[in-house]
Amino acid sequence: MQQNHLIEKYAEFLPITADTSRKSLGEGLTPLVQSNRLGSELGLKSLYFKLETLNPTGSFKDRGMFLAVAKAVESGSEAVICASTGNTSASASAYAALHGIKSFVVVPSGKIALGKLAQATVHGATIIQIQGSFDDALQIVRDITERFPVTLVNSVNPHRIDGQKTAAFEIVDELGYSPDILCIPVGNAGNIVAYWKGFTEYQSTGKASNLPRMWGFQAAGAAPIVLGHSVSNPETIATAIRIGNPASWTAAVNARDQSNGQIESVTDDEILGAYHRLAREEGVFCEPASAASVAGLIKQSQQGANLSQLTAVCVITGHGLKDPDTALSIEADRVEVAADALLVEEAMNLH
Ligand SMILES: *Cc1c(COP(=O)(O)O)cnc(C)c1O
Repeated sequence: MQQNHLIEKYAEFLPITADTSRKSLGEGLTPLVQSNRLGSELGLKSLYFKLETLNPTGSFKDRGMFLAVAKAVESGSEAVICASTGNTSASASAYAALHGIKSFVVVPSGKIALGKLAQATVHGATIIQIQGSFDDALQIVRDITERFPVTLVNSVNPHRIDGQKTAAFEIVDELGYSPDILCIPVGNAGNIVAYWKGFTEYQSTGKASNLPRMWGFQAAGAAPIVLGHSVSNPETIATAIRIGNPASWTAAVNARDQSNGQIESVTDDEILGAYHRLAREEGVFCEPASAASVAGLIKQSQQGANLSQLTAVCVITGHGLKDPDTALSIEADRVEVAADALLVEEAMNLH
């Protein structure tokens, strides 16, 4: 059988049984594309983008969610719940629909990118918008799942981490080795932990001979790990990482330290600068949170990090179409004219 499904391809690394559903939306197995310009400008030997934007709901959350929901169903659960800055809700509601179970999503009111809210809506989730932050929402869903038979599918669910670690496997399978540096945005901090788990499992089973340094990046207005204390009112344009008290804080710090890596912050201006460059110079359209990985790499280079001879991979975590408001806030070369070829030619500066 062709191994075109994460469960088949990485079965030996996943907690699956004969009773685990094999239902799939085609998650994972995403492209690793080489940078067109940025890599050479930063003096890297090679720079790659892991395009997690091409997952079924447009973010890496699908990699863990297919497994978390399959395991929930296997254990007899008929509903899943999550707190979300948007992408977890999009993914949970899609996989709940696939399996024919209910989904409840608790989100911070007014802080969800439009496309993500559209996704949860169309997949039929019960959407509960709270007047509070993601951190408040996570506290609430943790409390509810202790008292009601609803499965929690945030990244505190270990199946999420196990599914997400497959992205590290794919990178090593494609390159033939681990990159020197793995750049990744950090919000609730599950994904940096998942990647580190993937790389270390591959190394300990002899499938990789080296390990990368993990370079995580938080938004400056939501940088609890960098500051060393939680942030009660996190603020950033990168809503997917607008988190003040990450659930996987300790494990993320371990991944940072064991890999000889770092977790630093980037400002919203730096995030938008990278977002813009990715779109204009690389043809890659991501959401702002994803651009934090690239903004961080650029910042490290500007601060004097010697990147020559190194191979880096930036994880592009979510698709730009999810956040049309940010996209349209960019100054554009856009005019409106009457339906007349002459006027169009003029607008093109052909005369
Ligand atoms: C969830 C998410 C993140 C943050 O991942 P964590 O595992 O919470 O650190 C980053 N970018 C996007 C697009 C996301 O959806």
